[in-house]
Amino acid sequence: MSFQWGQDAGDKVDPAPSLCTCNEKHHVLRVVCVHMEYLECVQLVICKRNPAAAQLVHRGLFPCAPLSPTLAVNMDILEFALELFVHMGPMSGHGRPP
Ligand SMILES: [Zn+2]
Repeated sequence: MSFQWGQDAGDKVDPAPSLCTCNEKHHVLRVVCVHMEYLECVQLVICKRNPAAAQLVHRGLFPCAPLSPTLAVNMDILEFALELFVHMGPMSGHGRPP
């Protein structure tokens, strides 16, 4: 299985944070997002009021770090992995004591 970049793989800037009217300092953060069938690179405008983790969770992505994540995974993939491990056969040896 290999991942392909999305068709319009250029960086997307989230328009929502531009509405932020806080007087805090804003930063642009580039995050690679792993979806079920493709990769996507997005740029988030972050500040203390709109942290990257909250913006990613709002998009259905789980950040791989609490502060300034550079990678996020679609929650559908996490649910798939959970189902996969729940239904893993006993012969695999995972989750069993040695
Ligand atoms: Zn702000």
